[in-house]
Amino acid sequence: MNAYDVILAGVGAAGSAAAYHLARRGARVLALDRGTIPNDQSSHGGATRIIRKAYFEHPDYVPLLTRAYELWRDLERASGSRVLFTPGVLYAGPAHGPLVRGSLESAALHALRVESLSEAEAGARFPGFVIPAGHRALFEPEGGYLHADGAIRAHARLAVAHGAIVREREPVRRWAADSRGVTVETDHGIYAAASLVLCAGAWMPTLARLGVPLRVTKQTFAWFSPRATQVDGPPSTSMQTDQPVWAMEDADGSLYYGFPAGAGGEGVKAARHVPGEATDPDTPSREPETAEVERVAEFLRRRVPGAAGPMLRAGACLYTNSPDGHFVLGMHPAHARVIVASPCSGHGFKFASVMGEVLADLSLSGCSRWPVGFLSPKRISHKDTAG
Ligand SMILES: Cc1cc2nc3c(=O)[nH]c(=O)nc-3n(C[C@H](O)[C@H](O)[C@H](O)COP(=O)(O)OP(=O)(O)OC[C@H]3O[C@@H](n4cnc5c(N)ncnc54)[C@H](O)[C@@H]3O)c2cc1C
Repeated sequence: MNAYDVILAGVGAAGSAAAYHLARRGARVLALDRGTIPNDQSSHGGATRIIRKAYFEHPDYVPLLTRAYELWRDLERASGSRVLFTPGVLYAGPAHGPLVRGSLESAALHALRVESLSEAEAGARFPGFVIPAGHRALFEPEGGYLHADGAIRAHARLAVAHGAIVREREPVRRWAADSRGVTVETDHGIYAAASLVLCAGAWMPTLARLGVPLRVTKQTFAWFSPRATQVDGPPSTSMQTDQPVWAMEDADGSLYYGFPAGAGGEGVKAARHVPGEATDPDTPSREPETAEVERVAEFLRRRVPGAAGPMLRAGACLYTNSPDGHFVLGMHPAHARVIVASPCSGHGFKFASVMGEVLADLSLSGCSRWPVGFLSPKRISHKDTAG
């Protein structure tokens, strides 16, 4: 008999949640991470992650998001730790751009609460932001942010409390699978299990042997000192904690986002959501790109002047990008007992709670009640072979 029901390779956003859901169901779980849990070398560094439901990327994500919200609240109750904060999300962009159009489409299809604001209304309600003529603003009251490290720690702690074995600094070096089960090799031993979940973030391209082109990129973000009083403006224009999270599409199509002051450390965190330079995750350097920090600072000066104080500090972490920007999640196309999870392309953290449930379903029974078929790795392999 296999010693474990499921081995998890990676205890980051998705892996920590999967360890919790599996252990809670009574499965024998071994969860291994190459670093500490959490760590700043992977895709979850930088303290905070946006969560929102009016998903401009595709409306098919919305049912998963509804469940993700429920599970984040469950996690808070079970762990006693607050991880989800909902000051709302302010969206702004060209009226026919992907951000505004896609958010409205998801909201309409799934009857989500999203307020459409005229330029004047947006200006009166959110004076810290400049909405250019011809751009449209939306406000989603349920949107907000997650404390990334706290969420991973809470999932991992509860997994251990339910009997999972969770180990830091034990990278999975190799794995093999056949119809009876899987074996996993680390520097400390060889372990056997009925199934294996590969959820190794930026290391998926080398570890998963998927045949899917996943591109790892370095992403820079920075914290800026909020200005207590905007030049020529009243104090209410500063980016204080009661301000919303924001996502704004610029005239050239670039998407910038930011958090209220103090959401995850000192200052206002802001960044641009676009894949950066390709990188090797084993490169130890996570040096932020100076030019990117300056680009974000320039955006803040134009569009979020209340946040455009001096830069306090900057950091970088990794996106794992699929060719179509959607997650890669499902059974390994070549191995029935192996599940692959790359919920990234820069937008996966908010889903981690529901990913945990889906990965527990897939590894224990081969299917899930949640609609994740649109994320299957087969869509990409299939497209590639079809040319
Ligand atoms: C700058 C930035 C901003 C982002 N903003 C948002 C946002 O606002 N909202 C949002 O929803 N998402 C956001 N994301 C995306 C989100 O953080 C990722 O989608 C999410 O962290 C991916 O989770 P994961 O579990 O796949 O990978 P990770 O969280 O990186 O976890 C993977 C884990 O696997 C471990 N590992 C790697 N190789 C091995 C091995 N061989 N053996 C054992 N363990 C291994 C790693 O150490 C790591 O802990 C952002 C990402 C970045 C970089």
